[in-house]
Amino acid sequence: MADYNALKELALSCGFSHVGDLDVDTIVVRPEVRESCAENKCRSYNKNWVCPPACGTLEECSEKIHKYKRGLILQTTGLLEDSLDYEAMMELADHHGKHMDQFSDKIHELFPDAMVIGDGQCRRCKICTYPDAPCRFPDKKSSSMEALGMVVSEVCADNGISYYYGPGTLTYVGCVLIE
Ligand code: SF4
Repeated sequence: MADYNALKELALSCGFSHVGDLDVDTIVVRPEVRESCAENKCRSYNKNWVCPPACGTLEECSEKIHKYKRGLILQTTGLLEDSLDYEAMMELADHHGKHMDQFSDKIHELFPDAMVIGDGQCRRCKICTYPDAPCRFPDKKSSSMEALGMVVSEVCADNGISYYYGPGTLTYVGCVLIE
């Protein structure tokens, strides 16, 4: 069995602000999240291999997720000047993405079958091959928690890790399913 304390230390060394245990049995995929993807507010719908519809049906996503039992929740928290501080939001998103990429490389060295789930669309390539050619890095591509049908705040609450760290803070969340 994996040494989860050591893996949490590894994740913190990649820059995450908070890391918590994830019991995969708590994860419920919800059709309403998928419906909100289809509204395409994030402009990623049908644009890459890791968002709907290419990432598979909700049932297929649930099946992929529930092949695992344990993992970690990974969070990057930052401060905003106010709720319109888009510059800080973008910067924080970029930091979180870098933490995820770094951790993804390290966890795959230890657990090649680990499933890394980020936020937003996959950032491995500058331009995704979708839909003209197969994914360049099928073992390293990462879907977002929402794309797979998860309600991020619910997954955090069900695993006893906060999602809100006080006024003026913003937290980006990802997770990794390990074994
Ligand atoms: S690894 Fe590249 S080709 Fe594959 S989903 Fe990510 S961005 Fe697209």
